[in-house]
Amino acid sequence: MSRLADLHTHTYYSDSTLSPQELIEQAHQNGLSCLAVTDHDTVEGIAPSMEAARKYGIEIITGIELSSEIHGKEVHILGYLFNREHGFLTDQLNRMQDVRIERMKTMIEKLRGLGIKNIELEEVCALTKTKSVGRPHLATILKEKGAVSDYTQAFEKFLAEGRPAYVSKFKQTPYEAIALIRQAGGLAVLAHPMLTGIDELIPSLVKAGMKGLEVYYPNVPENVIYFYEGLAKKHHLLMTGGSDAHGDIKKNTRIGRIKIPYALVEQLKEAVRA
Ligand code: AMP
Ligand code: ZN
Ligand code: FE
Ligand code: FE
Repeated sequence: MSRLADLHTHTYYSDSTLSPQELIEQAHQNGLSCLAVTDHDTVEGIAPSMEAARKYGIEIITGIELSSEIHGKEVHILGYLFNREHGFLTDQLNRMQDVRIERMKTMIEKLRGLGIKNIELEEVCALTKTKSVGRPHLATILKEKGAVSDYTQAFEKFLAEGRPAYVSKFKQTPYEAIALIRQAGGLAVLAHPMLTGIDELIPSLVKAGMKGLEVYYPNVPENVIYFYEGLAKKHHLLMTGGSDAHGDIKKNTRIGRIKIPYALVEQLKEAVRA
């Protein structure tokens, strides 16, 4: 049987509800033999995932999903096969997480101003194992406290861009995110381009050293996949794919939704060696 991979997954080291053990068990049940753990702005979930994967013989490749912003749009840059102990990367990730904590304090303040006064920083931070705290955690608490009826409403009412408790993150551009991954010896890939909507910037991202496009993603129509396959070929980019599963937080995807041939992982490995 040919090997299958999922190159976009999250754990509770960022904003998934899944522990590394649960993630790996689900991967095993779904016949996956290779996984990239791509938590938001942290690499801390990788080692425990490797530990959990050992008994199933599942390969874990180094990954991350870096937040960035350009022209007011949030852009996610996936990084693969980099040195996760790289000094400058470690410093940058620490800085990004500190900014996330400060931002969370501001969002909680804003909610207080809107009459929701019973949310404490500690309980939001308790939902993740690291400092990579974000809006999904706050949405979960808003729901728990009965301030909204569900997770989606938390974004619609308060947390989405333009809503009254929204606070933007930090001003790292996608070009800087790409540079960071490159400096750490890895490959930068544009995450879910069909959701991000910055196709016009792809040529400049390629010039900046971006090496791939995440073409295979849940809930994307065939013709859109075909379009991005074409774009990847045109720019000589690697193609990746993954479920972007977040456990219970993201209801419209789960582990097993996207399984890509292992040959694409081998292409990543070849590219990073070159
Ligand atoms: P943060 O990194 O704190 O800005 O949170 C970003 C995450 O929030 C994204 O990765 C999504 O999982 C989630 N998210 C962003 N916008 C929405 C939305 N409108 N509805 C539901 N989830 C969202
Ligand atoms: Zn996430
Ligand atoms: Fe993303
Ligand atoms: Fe993601």
